[in-house]
Amino acid sequence: MSRIRSRDTGPEMAIRRILHARGLRYRVDMPIPVEPKCSRADIVFTRARLAVYVDGCFWHRCPEHGTSPKANAEWWQAKLDRNVRRDRQTDRTLTDADWRVIRIWEHEDPSEAAERIIAALSGSQSRSP
Ligand SMILES: [Zn+2]
Repeated sequence: MSRIRSRDTGPEMAIRRILHARGLRYRVDMPIPVEPKCSRADIVFTRARLAVYVDGCFWHRCPEHGTSPKANAEWWQAKLDRNVRRDRQTDRTLTDADWRVIRIWEHEDPSEAAERIIAALSGSQSRSP
């Protein structure tokens, strides 16, 4: 069985490089201890309680690039539905435990994605009056 290799892929690495260059330190692929079960996130800022996921367009059904394979259509449909459901569940679990979640599509521009993360960390995402 081959594991899905979503880690150490282009977009995530590019984002991590930018964050690192900005002097930010984070954990990679870290299990976050929340109830009912640990949730692994791609990039984790423990003190800021910020979890970042870089989601593959296919596996997580990006609205722009999500496709449904024609072969075994039903199986894929069920599988991808399950992925998306699990994502939302993970978001809820983390949010309930006072974590913030940022989800980035793999097609997003890495520097824009990094800016979103940096903004969240600096608290500047609070809406201006
Ligand atoms: Zn996409």
